[in-house]
Amino acid sequence: MSDIKRVAVLAGDGIGPEVMDEALAVLAVVCEKYSRRINFAQALVGGAAYIKTASHFPDETREICAKSDAILFGSVGGPVSQSHLPQWKGCETNSILAVRKAFKLAANFRPTVVYPSMSSGSPLKAEVIGEGVDLIIIRELQGDVYFGEHTFFESQGERCARDSGEYTESQIRFVAQTAFNAARKRRNVVHSVDKANVLHMSKLWREVVSEVHQSEFSDVKLEHVLVDNCALQLVKNPAQFDVIVAPNLFGDILSDLAAALPGSLGLSPSASFNSEGFALYEPSGGSAPDIAGKGIANPIAQILSAAMMLRYSFGWDAEANAIESAVSSALADGYRTADLASPNHKASTTREMGDAIRARIS
Ligand code: NAD
Repeated sequence: MSDIKRVAVLAGDGIGPEVMDEALAVLAVVCEKYSRRINFAQALVGGAAYIKTASHFPDETREICAKSDAILFGSVGGPVSQSHLPQWKGCETNSILAVRKAFKLAANFRPTVVYPSMSSGSPLKAEVIGEGVDLIIIRELQGDVYFGEHTFFESQGERCARDSGEYTESQIRFVAQTAFNAARKRRNVVHSVDKANVLHMSKLWREVVSEVHQSEFSDVKLEHVLVDNCALQLVKNPAQFDVIVAPNLFGDILSDLAAALPGSLGLSPSASFNSEGFALYEPSGGSAPDIAGKGIANPIAQILSAAMMLRYSFGWDAEANAIESAVSSALADGYRTADLASPNHKASTTREMGDAIRARIS
């Protein structure tokens, strides 16, 4: 990789372009401060691409992504009530899922941070949040029941349904290595989620995770936890977790549970990696058509996604830390967009929140 990084910017639909503008402006401030260079290539995706090219993920966008060091993604999709219209029909499947498939993105990172200053916005009590929650869920993306055979059938006069799932050793090994490597950069603890008391896929999962741990990562603390207990613990005592690694289905559910802890989807970034380390960074939420175009969306999930890109794709830890500290400090100083503001609190606009974060970097 050269010293100048190339980033494909796919802002997409709804609030995507609004929050992306703030993230790009934050990156400009960070690059200025740390003498870094990033070349951004904007490309169309989602409904915005469809109206110009009749495709939700045009070839030109795919080529721009393939020539880049990372993808910074906004969000795609229109109002759920308009999902029958050609611009929106199949939009998510044809764009974000197609990008994940095209670049074989196999491990999804969803960090959850509940800052002590924000504990009143969390559905959990302040004493449960304690000194704050800082965990990351790493979800396997290519195996499990999502990719097996799905059938409806009849048996003895009844309607029945069957979904089959599969895991290979190499799929599990990759995501386990990814989780242990991530833990080494954090607090060095991994909880591996499964249902090994019942499912064969889970028995293999536990076996392979333990082997990877013993052979390559014995310095990291590993605990196995059943998925039902993990859900309970995430609500009862989320501060105990550092890195959670989970199969596709369990990870899907647990990461949404964890995303609820900070009190708004607008705070949750995410990243998806392939086995070569290439990654896409995006907010966990969608295009929020209910608030799009009003200048009130929370840009923090997009800005923190950009910070993850600096850390994981470019190894720029100081720059990523500067963004994360600025976000934490803007929140501690009382800045709140409408999704976070209490009724008697004047909400900041998208731009004002971006400005507050940039001011705390420079
Ligand atoms: P959504 O995540 O867009 O919105 C859910 C709620 O959270 C809304 O009330 C919204 O206003 C709020 N919200 C989300 N992000 C916010 C932010 N940054 N600031 C403030 N509030 C925020 O989910 P939805 O309404 O179910 O879906 C809307 C569209 O988004 C659909 O077309 C759906 O298919 C699409 N979608 C796309 C992605 C993606 O691009 N990866 C993910 C999920 C949903």
